[in-house]
Amino acid sequence: MSRYLNNKYVSLEEYVPGEQPKDMRYVKLNTNESPFPPSERVVEAIDSEAVKQLKLYSDPDASELREKIAGLFGYEKENVFVSNGSDDILNFSFMAFCGRGEHSVVFPDISYGFYKVYAELHGAEYTQIPLREDFSIDPEDYVGIGKNIVIANPNAPTGLALSRAAIERIVASNPDNLVLIDEAYVDFGAESAVGLVNKYDNLMVVRTFSKSYSLAGARLGFAIASESLISDLNKIKFSTNPYNINRLSMIAGCRAIEDNAYYMNNCKIIARTRRNVTEELRALGFEVLDSRANFIFARTPDISGEELYSELKKRGVLIRHFKTERIKDFNRITIGTDDEMNVFLRSVKEILGRI
Ligand SMILES: *Cc1c(COP(=O)(O)O)cnc(C)c1O
Repeated sequence: MSRYLNNKYVSLEEYVPGEQPKDMRYVKLNTNESPFPPSERVVEAIDSEAVKQLKLYSDPDASELREKIAGLFGYEKENVFVSNGSDDILNFSFMAFCGRGEHSVVFPDISYGFYKVYAELHGAEYTQIPLREDFSIDPEDYVGIGKNIVIANPNAPTGLALSRAAIERIVASNPDNLVLIDEAYVDFGAESAVGLVNKYDNLMVVRTFSKSYSLAGARLGFAIASESLISDLNKIKFSTNPYNINRLSMIAGCRAIEDNAYYMNNCKIIARTRRNVTEELRALGFEVLDSRANFIFARTPDISGEELYSELKKRGVLIRHFKTERIKDFNRITIGTDDEMNVFLRSVKEILGRI
């Protein structure tokens, strides 16, 4: 830290992304990327002509991409905001809507780590609401709370999901506050709240191309909400970085939407593999939460979470371990291809002496 850093950032604790070690080739099950490549249409669209066009700024209105996304969900372009990853949208949302008093914000105590970081970054008052004993979110904790609400559905890193009816109850009971539903993992088997945007002007649904659309490296996220909420996000965007999506990612996003069926099929494959791996781990004595995401969250009485993580790393398999007290015995394991999961399961059996 230099002595020039603004005082208000001195005690800010930044988000720590999953590790990306370069020392060897790992079976990478630690950051919830897709094991499948982008579709052919996406790969072919990033051609030399597209690269030549990089001399020009990208479209600050992102018209084509917003129209494509709107079309997919039955909304208008004015209901869609696109950004450089959904993290960017979460950041903009905390900046735009969260603050003190009536603008304070609540989110679960165990959820995506960035919510707390953004709340602190933007000086917002925040409350972390404890998950139930079984790690699920109790929707009643949020009904009529009268504060801004941020919920990941499915939640991370638990993978547990709320029903659309539960989300609607929360949204309907807090008409004077923003309810932001982060649906980063919804395509893997949870109910989306996107269809409720027409009905509630306080609902914002945030999505990403990083997981279900195999584009983590392109950095593309989007939000669907009422026109007025979207215009607030645009106000922040045009006050920071109007060209927030680069040309190549814009093309990738448009072509990916055209190949929606390919990606939805990949999600089905991942859900099937998730069910198989869950069963196998349970048979080995693991407790595995009922995930609706492209990862599972699991613990076993036979070995600590940290030890399993490091033993797997020695064998070339990366998973994600969190040191937070309440979940320190768990690990989050991204669902890869069947082959990758077989390597993972074999290594687990070896570590537990079951081979
Ligand atoms: C991965 C993830 C994001 C971030 O996605 P990007 O679009 O890659 O920035 C947001 N929310 C949750 C819950 C995530 O797991």
